[in-house]
Amino acid sequence: MKTAQDLRTLLQSIDHKSYPAYKSTQGIYRFPGYLLSIDHVQGDPFASPSRVSIHIDGKTAGFPTELYDTRPKRTALQDHLTRLFYGEIDRFNFRAKGSGKSGLLSVSRCGQEILERSACTLNPADGSLILRMQIGFPAGGRTIHSGELIRILYDFLPDCVNDSLLYKNLDKKKCQEVRALCEDQEFIRAQLRERGLAAFVANGSILPRLSGVSERPMKKAVPFVSPASLEISMKLPNRGAIKGMGLKKGITLIVGGGFHGKSTLLKALERGVYNHIAGDGREFVITDSSAVKLRAEDSRSISNVDISLFINHLPGGRGTGSFSTEDASGSTSQAANVIEGIEAGTSLFLIDEDTSATNFMIRDGLMQKVVADREEPITPFISRVRSLYEQAGISSIIVAGSSGSYFHTADTVIQMKEYLPFDITENAKAIAASWGGAVTPAGDFRIPDFRRCPRPAEGLRNQDRLKIKVLGREGIQINRSSTDLRYLEQLADGEQLAALAYLLVYASRHLMNGQRTLTEIVDALEQRMDREGLASLTDSSYLASDLCRPRRQEIFACFNRCRELRF
Ligand code: ADP
Ligand code: MG
Repeated sequence: MKTAQDLRTLLQSIDHKSYPAYKSTQGIYRFPGYLLSIDHVQGDPFASPSRVSIHIDGKTAGFPTELYDTRPKRTALQDHLTRLFYGEIDRFNFRAKGSGKSGLLSVSRCGQEILERSACTLNPADGSLILRMQIGFPAGGRTIHSGELIRILYDFLPDCVNDSLLYKNLDKKKCQEVRALCEDQEFIRAQLRERGLAAFVANGSILPRLSGVSERPMKKAVPFVSPASLEISMKLPNRGAIKGMGLKKGITLIVGGGFHGKSTLLKALERGVYNHIAGDGREFVITDSSAVKLRAEDSRSISNVDISLFINHLPGGRGTGSFSTEDASGSTSQAANVIEGIEAGTSLFLIDEDTSATNFMIRDGLMQKVVADREEPITPFISRVRSLYEQAGISSIIVAGSSGSYFHTADTVIQMKEYLPFDITENAKAIAASWGGAVTPAGDFRIPDFRRCPRPAEGLRNQDRLKIKVLGREGIQINRSSTDLRYLEQLADGEQLAALAYLLVYASRHLMNGQRTLTEIVDALEQRMDREGLASLTDSSYLASDLCRPRRQEIFACFNRCRELRF
């Protein structure tokens, strides 16, 4: 094994040489307390920065097993360490001067959600730790300034590692708080299953965000208070007693005047599939982890989806048992989203009328009189929502501000008033009954056959040249084909999009053979991530410094939107 001194000697010998000489530093070096691995060296000062990882053995890292003995706790600890390390290196960023990205130091930036990332991984078998980061190797023009890199690697990085990755130097109380919060959150998730709940929102939760561009909690927001009739209490293992709104499975309707907080509540529920950090305000907003936000998505592509439950006898006698289009309408896209959501194993749909196709959601009595049912291809969601729950076990939480049609079929009706929820179920149902106009349910909910076997088009299978690009939060691009993911509102982090791109490439190279169903393929991908981690998705491991694990539901959704797959 080469030593830190070997690297220093090498760096001194290439000072002032031309940039590519940095390539010779690739390798693993023993530093006091850890191994420094230079995994990939950038080609020039303007290219994306070099990838470096820090490997600490279990004894040196020293984390007590109770901090990582379950997957969620391990994820929470890794997340905590990534944040601490981020805080450390931020102080030194770009302190080394030079051209291009000289002196840039970076590690994944964590947001409000606690997510599994390749940036920091703790091996549960022996407690060893890997931290993956990027460093812009310094240069003046294209001339190596290795003195600056020596300062980073020998004066600065060891302190960062010591202060943020070794248990003995950390704030132990804080580490225990991270563990305790995670245990409490997981306890609530288990309670949802045990008590037949779709979601829980604790009293005192802060649901609104600071602004349209900040996910931080709003200051001076009205804290959440459950209506008395829906209030339940739990005894969390660490925090003790907690009260809040328990939303039962079934059909829940959220109504209320414009600007009274309906969408804000729904958004909090959408994100409740993830755990949140302390201070977020949504720490104890916990939703069924399989929940899927359902919305209209004009112009998405659909490949071979049976949408006949919702759309039938299209003009020209076109069938819908195996529906494909390169350019879906609002209603066909939302119908496909329901069917694909079921295929992805959801047991809860979240729907906001703001982002739904009206003709998919409802069809009122007057319209039925004027345009006969047989001339209307659409069976609206309202005619299926009850049997979707009773026959397929899938609940719905629906925000509706303008249509009263769902009152008849809802199990629970919540009205948002001045940002606070009120249980108006009885009153709403009584008025609806006397008003009349209940929609007749549209017969049995027959779950479609999910034996769709995707095949990748040439562009994805091409073995040699592969260009992967993440287009911010908008989508991913593989070679020349892009997949639009902007409407997957439950993607919480750009690094999840990067991981989706690698999952897509990995699956099309190794799993998609026209024989395996989409479900079998996603199962295999999840097993691989469970066993070997996110880093195993990329052929060249250096690329794996910044991936974040997406949920199963988003893997399905991404594959279903990829125009390079034929089902
Ligand atoms: P709706 O969907 O009912 O029209 P929104 O959920 O979009 O209403 O909320 C309207 C506005 O009120 C948003 O700007 C939101 O940030 C704010 N808001 C929502 N909930 C709260 C709250 N609990 N306290 C303060 N402001 C809130
Ligand atoms: Mg709204």
